[in-house]
Amino acid sequence: MWRGELPAESLVQQPAENGAPQSTLTAAQAQALLDDPRMILVSRAHKMPEDYPVETKECGSATAINKTLQTEAAEAFLSMQAAAAKDGVDVRMQSGYRSVSYQKKLYDNKTQYYRDQGLSEAAAREKAAVIVNPPGCSEHNCGLAADLNSPEHTTLDTGFADTAAFRWLCENAEQYGFILRYPKEAESVTGITYEPWHWRYVGPENAALLNQSGLCLEDAVAVLQRIAAGETVTG
Ligand SMILES: [Zn+2]
Repeated sequence: MWRGELPAESLVQQPAENGAPQSTLTAAQAQALLDDPRMILVSRAHKMPEDYPVETKECGSATAINKTLQTEAAEAFLSMQAAAAKDGVDVRMQSGYRSVSYQKKLYDNKTQYYRDQGLSEAAAREKAAVIVNPPGCSEHNCGLAADLNSPEHTTLDTGFADTAAFRWLCENAEQYGFILRYPKEAESVTGITYEPWHWRYVGPENAALLNQSGLCLEDAVAVLQRIAAGETVTG
């Protein structure tokens, strides 16, 4: 739960009188949010731009595979981890930033595996992409995505949703700037099945705005684009 001030502006707000929810953001505010590098949308449909700047800092656990996040996100994670510890909850960063070249290696290895099975080049690539995101298409490539776990549940699977760590994150991650990126109810929009362990740094104000709207990042960016283009967004 957000303990600070609620954002003055809303992506989607229910008006006092009965009517369709409306956004209170101006076109310029929407554009500023779209231009915020922390709001970048990275997915199979939105490949990360090659010039996206990534400067990282270590914040992973001893067993982490990828131990860094973008500096601002890493510092936010460390503060969040310390706050959780004060509440008796152990939250660890298990996998963070993956460079595009590392992602390429994962993807190429998987493609080779299918080639070796006798699949055509196109079929091998397509099949590999189902399991491993192509380079630049994983949110981990931008350094703002963190797979979190806790000693009580170290595997990255939906069992994490039953942990104290997950419950703590649902209550508190927003004020440190992290959102649950692939919620169950957004599966059809994100194209990713529910991942309770995958958290995404967007900054505290943006996290509050997104959570308040109830929109996943894909939908939020789509709404912001319409507002930025001068449309009045309702519903
Ligand atoms: Zn992840």
